[in-house]
Amino acid sequence: MNIVVCLKQVPGTTEVKIDPVKNTLIRQGIKNIVNPFDTYALEEGMRLRERFGGKVTALSMGPPQAIEMLRDAISVGADDAILLSDVAFAGADTWATSYTLGKAVRKLGNIDLVICGRQTIDGDTGQVGPELAEMLGRPFIAYVSKVEEIKDGTLRVQRMVEDGYETIEANLPAVITVVKEINIPRLPSLRGTMKAKSAQIPTWTAQDIGVEKEKAGLAGSATQVVKIFFPQRVHKAEMLRGNVEEQVDALIEKLRDAKLV
Ligand SMILES: Cc1cc2nc3c(=O)[nH]c(=O)nc-3n(C[C@H](O)[C@H](O)[C@H](O)COP(=O)(O)OP(=O)(O)OC[C@H]3O[C@@H](n4cnc5c(N)ncnc54)[C@H](O)[C@@H]3O)c2cc1C
Repeated sequence: MNIVVCLKQVPGTTEVKIDPVKNTLIRQGIKNIVNPFDTYALEEGMRLRERFGGKVTALSMGPPQAIEMLRDAISVGADDAILLSDVAFAGADTWATSYTLGKAVRKLGNIDLVICGRQTIDGDTGQVGPELAEMLGRPFIAYVSKVEEIKDGTLRVQRMVEDGYETIEANLPAVITVVKEINIPRLPSLRGTMKAKSAQIPTWTAQDIGVEKEKAGLAGSATQVVKIFFPQRVHKAEMLRGNVEEQVDALIEKLRDAKLV
């Protein structure tokens, strides 16, 4: 089983600021973390390797500092990691992101399974998994909560749906996204930490993976963020006067005026 796990670095805080001109998040000076859902994807990749043999490659498209997140992936047990980083990839929407990730998976070749998190906590679209499957021309299963069996080139999983679970089979190679109910991610081991320190993590550019620049980054993005903003919250407080009965009467009147009772 050759498995690729897609990991995205995201801001580790909700206190992000927005550039009002570019309509982008200001990421400078923010501590980044691995997208929490992707830790479950990585754990599942490693569990499948332990059950069926093979190798787990962690893959991320992002700025150069994302290499630290990939080093962490090696410290918990990924065999290899690859960063996709190039100015041509900047400003990518989900489609251009999936195109670029797809090109890297093709370059790796001979991949049986690609595992993504169900969504990120910043972009939050949940689109990259299914789009990546489309780019690769492979079957896709979302919200996987259990991998039941892999046998004779077929994958059988349980996936979460609104009111229960479904059991689904797909031919390999395939792409899945996983939910956090699937496992409990492990912590880094001492051996893994030592390995991660000296691990060579290659950075692949657009040229390395044969990306056509007009299909990647901002140029290849079919969608554009027109405006991004925090909703304004207006808090109004009013002190009620008088004794308790008077305050209660005044409150009921105000609720009636506001048609809340
Ligand atoms: C409203 C909005 C504002 C945005 N603003 C900015 C911005 O200011 N600056 C900016 O740089 N980007 C911005 N983007 C982000 C950009 O479109 C996404 O980062 C990217 O396309 C991935 O989409 P997503 O985060 O929704 O991932 P999802 O589709 O939610 O991710 C699902 C899974 O796909 C995998 N995955 C996703 N992205 C990657 C990746 N890069 N590498 C490896 N695996 C990945 C992970 O396994 C993840 O769990 C914005 C997106 C939106 C919707």
